[in-house]
Amino acid sequence: MTDQDHAHEAHAHEAGVAPDDQDCAEYLERIVYFLDNELDAADCAAVRVHLDTCNPCLERYDLQRTVKAVVARSCAEPAPEALRERVRVSIRQVQVRLSEG
Ligand SMILES: [Zn+2]
Repeated sequence: MTDQDHAHEAHAHEAGVAPDDQDCAEYLERIVYFLDNELDAADCAAVRVHLDTCNPCLERYDLQRTVKAVVARSCAEPAPEALRERVRVSIRQVQVRLSEG
């Protein structure tokens, strides 16, 4: 084994230990599908594991779930416009925070 192989191995190990914001950005997208039950079993498991280990993503998941509940309820009765606006602002804040990384 060459020295170069050693260096490559060490880097791969590091990357596995510390997920960065890019991972979270990808998970945020999956979380939306997760809530809609549009992920296959493998992706579902991956999202659950990430939510277990990543508190910021768990909070985003809770937020998305709240949005879904509001939208679902609005089919039966109109949701208060103030609440919908608050949810919209919250989502935008999360997205801005994510892209600023
Ligand atoms: Zn995350």
